[in-house]
Amino acid sequence: MTEEKIDVLARLQAVRERIERASRGPVAERVRIVAVTKGFGAGAITAALDSGLSDIGENYYQEAADKFREVSWPAGALRHFIGRVQRNKARRIAALFDVVQTVDDLEVAAALDRGAGAAHKTLDVLVQVNVAGDQRQGVPPDLLGDFTGALRAHQHLRLRGLMAMGPPDPSAADVAFARAAACFERLRAALPSATVLSMGMSDDMELALAHGSTMLRLGTALFGPRRAP
Ligand SMILES: *Cc1c(COP(=O)(O)O)cnc(C)c1O
Repeated sequence: MTEEKIDVLARLQAVRERIERASRGPVAERVRIVAVTKGFGAGAITAALDSGLSDIGENYYQEAADKFREVSWPAGALRHFIGRVQRNKARRIAALFDVVQTVDDLEVAAALDRGAGAAHKTLDVLVQVNVAGDQRQGVPPDLLGDFTGALRAHQHLRLRGLMAMGPPDPSAADVAFARAAACFERLRAALPSATVLSMGMSDDMELALAHGSTMLRLGTALFGPRRAP
């Protein structure tokens, strides 16, 4: 067993305990964990996969492309793009990843759709919703209905739910996560196949779970501190 794997297994156990405490019961199966490996080497991806996690998140196309080549991917593993999608990289992102969590622009969505079509695949997408007000990324909640309506016209994209980031000010997180949960309820009422609410990172996972998160994106909680980018 590699040292990295031993570390990830120990931290994963602690994460699972946090999830169960926060959800008052063994609902860990309902909650997916995306292992966020940005800033770590390909060995971190392998350690996460070896520890039984199947979802890997990366923020930058080139970093991901370089690392993914070094990994032998088990069947069923899913690669999530969680960074900002630059329009000129959208086609390559669509080809390399299984899920794009950060869709907030219809021109980018059109480019992802073309990229997925060219790669003969259907790409799962989440719409990033801007629930903190001061964020530059994300669709404002009042525009979400129109945005998801337009998104659903794309043949090679499958809308699976929403992604939200907590605000920089932790005292504002409760209101922001409640807003995301309300958006998610509305989307799900219109589109029952939208079952994913990706919300919660290492520092705010408990609060996100209290607001109904179904997917946590965890970096430092699984791998320890990241080196500066
Ligand atoms: C880096 C990152 C994470 C993980 O953050 P941690 O605090 O290390 O858990 C989650 N989501 C996004 C979008 C990120 O960029």
